Amino acid sequence: MKQGASTIAILSSGGDAPGMNAAIRAAVRGGLGRGCRMLGVLRGYQGLIDDEVEELELRSVSDVIHRGGTMLYTARSDEFVTPAGQKKALDTLARHGADALIVVGGDGSFRGALDLARQGMQIVGIPGTIDNDIACSEYTIGYDTAVNTAIEMIDRLRDTAQSHERCSVIEVMGRHCGNIALSAGIATGATAILVPEIDFDYEKDVLERIAFTRSKGKRHFIVVASEGIFKQSGSRFSSSEEMSAAISQDSGIPARTTVLGHVQRGGSPTGRDRITASEMGYLAAELLATGRGNRILAVRAGRVCDLDVEEALSAVRHFDFELYRMSQELSL
Ligand code: ATP
Repeated sequence: MKQGASTIAILSSGGDAPGMNAAIRAAVRGGLGRGCRMLGVLRGYQGLIDDEVEELELRSVSDVIHRGGTMLYTARSDEFVTPAGQKKALDTLARHGADALIVVGGDGSFRGALDLARQGMQIVGIPGTIDNDIACSEYTIGYDTAVNTAIEMIDRLRDTAQSHERCSVIEVMGRHCGNIALSAGIATGATAILVPEIDFDYEKDVLERIAFTRSKGKRHFIVVASEGIFKQSGSRFSSSEEMSAAISQDSGIPARTTVLGHVQRGGSPTGRDRITASEMGYLAAELLATGRGNRILAVRAGRVCDLDVEEALSAVRHFDFELYRMSQELSL
């Protein structure tokens, strides 16, 4: 039987996401419960390079389950992508006696973890990112909170759009992935939902939808757009403000833009995020403590499970076109 880890380090990396703290708490308590020493690495991979490591005890993770952000801080690190940076990171782990590492983050963070796994470190990846854009998993920690925050904000904007009989253009997060826009757009009855996965035609997908719904008696309009659609090459508009100005001019309906931005990243995690994070953190510690490293955790068929890291990272992400089609038929 494989030897389990005796000292497990944990870090968060990439963009923060609500629920990361619940995952860290569960991993620490799960690991301590199995007799492991637990170490927290501050500021992601950069903290590993800079030797920002501290011992975590049961009480170190008190009072965090309900908090957004990450108690370990997070960072992006260009140095870590280099072989020299990775050597420094591995040296830090060795100096502290860590024989395993849990990484809470997104796809990029997992690629970094895979590099360490190929150099002998036992790793487990926990999907923590608001975008829900990790191909191997149906769900990522933070997504539910982010979508609910976007819904709450859009509901507020709808009230004012309704009172003034306006069009409200709302830009939500998602550079390459339209999941937040799709979910929030469905939940708020948006007239148009624009996502990076689908090329959009301004006349057909925005103006004609507004004109059609207006002809059926609609007096206020919600357009939800992923930030990524304005950054694609060949995009007709370089910003949501520019699109709003065009809508005002071309439809005669005054349009206003709101960019939700980082409010979608913060806030107390929802029940779903806290529970999924707790399950994943606990499983990560269990896997490493029992010698089953080099796994990426995922939700499949609604259940938390673990996948081989190489296999997990070779998965191809699929956008839910069926759901998108449904949204088009409902928002009339
Ligand atoms: P989010 O989805 O929230 O952006 P992420 O984990 O995808 O999270 P990235 O900025 O892509 O965020 O990655 C975080 C860090 O992981 C990077 O700063 C870098 O140090 C490391 N990393 C990213 N991609 C790679 C890679 N291909 N190889 C090695 N390390 C990587």
